[in-house]
Amino acid sequence: MLKQRYDVIIIGAGPAGIFTALELAERCPDKQVLMVDTGREIAKRVCPARTTGKCVHCTPCAIVHGWAGAGAFSDGKLSLSEEVGGHISDYMSHEEAQALIRRADETYLRFGAPEVVHGLDDRKVDEIAYEASRYNIRLVPCPVRHLGTEHAGEVLRAMHDYLVQQTNTTFAELTTAQRILVRDGRADGVVLQGPDGQTQEVHAPYIVAAPGRGGADWLSEQVKALGLKTRNNEVDIGVRVEVPNSIMDHLTRYLYEAKLVYYADTYENKVRTFCMNPGGVVSEEHYEGGIAVVNGHSYGDAKLRTGNTNFAMLVSTSFTEPFDQPIRYGRYIAQLGNMLTGGPIMVQRLGDLLKGRRTTVSRLARSTTIPTLKTAVPGDLSFVLPPRHLTSIIEALRAFDHIAPGLFSKNTLLYGVEVKFYSSKVLVDTHFETPIQGLYTIGDGAGITRGLMQASVTGIKVADHIAER
Ligand SMILES: Cc1cc2nc3c(=O)[nH]c(=O)nc-3n(C[C@H](O)[C@H](O)[C@H](O)COP(=O)(O)OP(=O)(O)OC[C@H]3O[C@@H](n4cnc5c(N)ncnc54)[C@H](O)[C@@H]3O)c2cc1C
Repeated sequence: MLKQRYDVIIIGAGPAGIFTALELAERCPDKQVLMVDTGREIAKRVCPARTTGKCVHCTPCAIVHGWAGAGAFSDGKLSLSEEVGGHISDYMSHEEAQALIRRADETYLRFGAPEVVHGLDDRKVDEIAYEASRYNIRLVPCPVRHLGTEHAGEVLRAMHDYLVQQTNTTFAELTTAQRILVRDGRADGVVLQGPDGQTQEVHAPYIVAAPGRGGADWLSEQVKALGLKTRNNEVDIGVRVEVPNSIMDHLTRYLYEAKLVYYADTYENKVRTFCMNPGGVVSEEHYEGGIAVVNGHSYGDAKLRTGNTNFAMLVSTSFTEPFDQPIRYGRYIAQLGNMLTGGPIMVQRLGDLLKGRRTTVSRLARSTTIPTLKTAVPGDLSFVLPPRHLTSIIEALRAFDHIAPGLFSKNTLLYGVEVKFYSSKVLVDTHFETPIQGLYTIGDGAGITRGLMQASVTGIKVADHIAER
């Protein structure tokens, strides 16, 4: 049974919530902090699809819910630039963002993150950026600390053990925040539903809502009910590209992740590479409602590396009035892909796409790029992606071939659909505080971030603000 009163309640135990708790423990160790999460403690999080390749639709889904949030099974790439992984630079200066990234990075190191940082060879990075600029491609420089899928969970587990064993933090698993309580314009508490289905009111003057993308709809409903304003975010739709390492390794060797941006010739849509995994594997992931979308990851351990590199090529779209349902649009496109394959991810060779024909099992068998996602079904992405997206991706691939020769090849594999939904942005001040005093909204669920590092930074910033009050 939880107490009736705490100093701070944190909703969501992803990186945003964890870093709030870590900083509070550091800055004001006497404060009683309650963290709640719909999912389980990290040691109990098991995703059957990771071993069987089949999603059995667990409730709650172990991939996105529980201690460490969506970061638990992630590839653990910590992007050390504020230009990558979210919008924190809309809320603070470059200097402050860099200082907070350094603080968060030191904390990751303290809990066991590997020392190596990729992309620090400025001379080489400048050379690649210079070469890219000749073809209208922008390279976004971003040093990366790579935890690797096998280490990300360990680091986040060490944070759990420290917080629950050595600080005044209580963690309640399988506990869902149902309603945020406000009294006289101030945060007052949360109605929680525990593992036994019973509800309980718990009070605190500070509430930090960090529910991630898994809890974004819930947060939207809450803030609307409280009369707070939100703004739609963009939706990124595209494919995951897979090629032999030999095509990308002159870039990934120095950068780890080559963040490339190209404005497509026909539609001038922004196309960007995202989540590059040298020696990695393509994976299938499921959103609520059973929608299968493609993703990718790689292991820090050299022995587990494959002969392929994969990365996302995403086309960003911001819809204007009257349309205000970008997430629904993205889900619709992903469902279309699932409908044509009977459920799984679709894969097509670039050569087949350009010839206007589907990839079949026998055509795929002739590919020199061996797919790492064995469950992908060969098909035709032109039946799935809108022409605007498909044309923009093809034009960007052709441009990127100048700096990664061999990328625009018949055997380049395209998996669909990769969709990145971003939650509606809750309108907050520069401390991530809503107009309701003491109520903060942070991380991916508040539409502010899209990655581990920036989510962590939002947690630190909120803890600083609470500590100074
Ligand atoms: C497969 C995958 C790979 C990724 N790889 C990378 C990577 O390499 N690098 C990178 O920077 N980012 C990566 N990301 C993204 C990264 O994991 C997220 O950006 C980050 O976890 C966001 O942190 P967060 O704390 O805002 O939310 P989350 O990590 O999503 O945590 C939110 C938590 O809140 C809980 N919650 C939701 N609603 C409620 C409620 N009502 N009550 C109680 N609890 C609730 C959820 O159960 C969840 O545990 C990856 C994501 C995925 C899915």
